[in-house]
Amino acid sequence: MSESVVSGVVNTMLNVWNAILDFNDRWFPKWRKTDPIYYSNALAGESGEVCNAIKHMVGGGTNKMTPEQARLKAVDETVDVLIYMTLLLERLGVDQHGFIAAFKKKMTENEHRMEEELNKSAQTIADKLEKQGVRFPWPGDMPG
Ligand SMILES: [Mg+2]
Repeated sequence: MSESVVSGVVNTMLNVWNAILDFNDRWFPKWRKTDPIYYSNALAGESGEVCNAIKHMVGGGTNKMTPEQARLKAVDETVDVLIYMTLLLERLGVDQHGFIAAFKKKMTENEHRMEEELNKSAQTIADKLEKQGVRFPWPGDMPG
């Protein structure tokens, strides 16, 4: 992931994070003293609401809504997931800067893991082709 993409994500994240805190400071002033278990349970509940909406989107459940209504419901519930995730992190002592540091660290790890997987896959394919007698020409083998 390029540095400019990461920078854009970070700026957007800061704005979203601050909007969530501002809303909760204004409307739920005691939220910073609420036990974190409230937020972890709420996060799980909202994740379940996303899953339920997706279930309806693909035709499951008895509460009939159109696939589009269910899709919009799922999107709406992901916002609740983000809100509770943010509040939980704050209650765990992780502010937006701590989260951004964790985000960059995790994305770097993910990039390295994917590069390793790609290299393993390429090596596996090369090994299989070699066993089949397929040989790729070296640059010196190419006609001049
Ligand atoms: Mg909800």
